[in-house]
Amino acid sequence: MVFVKDGGVVAPGEPICVQEEFDPGENSVLDKSGVVASRILGKVFYDRARRRVDVKPLRRPEVIGINDQVLAHVKGIQDKIAIVSILSVNGRALKHPRTAVIIPRRGRGVKGEMKDLIGVGDLVVAQVVTSFMGVIGLSIWRPNLGVVLGVCSKCSGILTKSRGGLVCSRCGDKHKRKIVPYYGNLEQLTSMLEVRTG
Ligand SMILES: [Zn+2]
Repeated sequence: MVFVKDGGVVAPGEPICVQEEFDPGENSVLDKSGVVASRILGKVFYDRARRRVDVKPLRRPEVIGINDQVLAHVKGIQDKIAIVSILSVNGRALKHPRTAVIIPRRGRGVKGEMKDLIGVGDLVVAQVVTSFMGVIGLSIWRPNLGVVLGVCSKCSGILTKSRGGLVCSRCGDKHKRKIVPYYGNLEQLTSMLEVRTG
């Protein structure tokens, strides 16, 4: 006897079928009465060849919360804010990049305009500080936040760190940025874009 059809959604503890039909596989358990039940909220898949039933977890929506650390691509800069596209959250790459806004530092000690701190095309690490009506506000003001990879506004060359600041590797132009301590470390950058499963 099968209680849920192939591809059906089940809740934790929900009976799927009797063991005579399918053995419990991934995320499913056999109870004392010989009924296979789901352990998770997921979708049912019957493996007829192996005569077992698996429950695959439902894909959770990509939630971005306050204090999450994000890697973002700078799309545009205005006087006090920058528009970015979030590529990854807490080291997990997003399937669908989300637009967010880097907001100015509150209170005293605001030095320079946004264009003196980041540039269009840069990759930045930022922290989520507000989320209002679906608009995500980001901060780059703490020392471990800021540009991880900058590009030249003239020629799009990669900026490299030198004693005098950031210099374009292609045209030699100098640029001002608020950079992270590990600026230019590509290994660290790649690890932030890793796609993790589960
Ligand atoms: Zn350049």
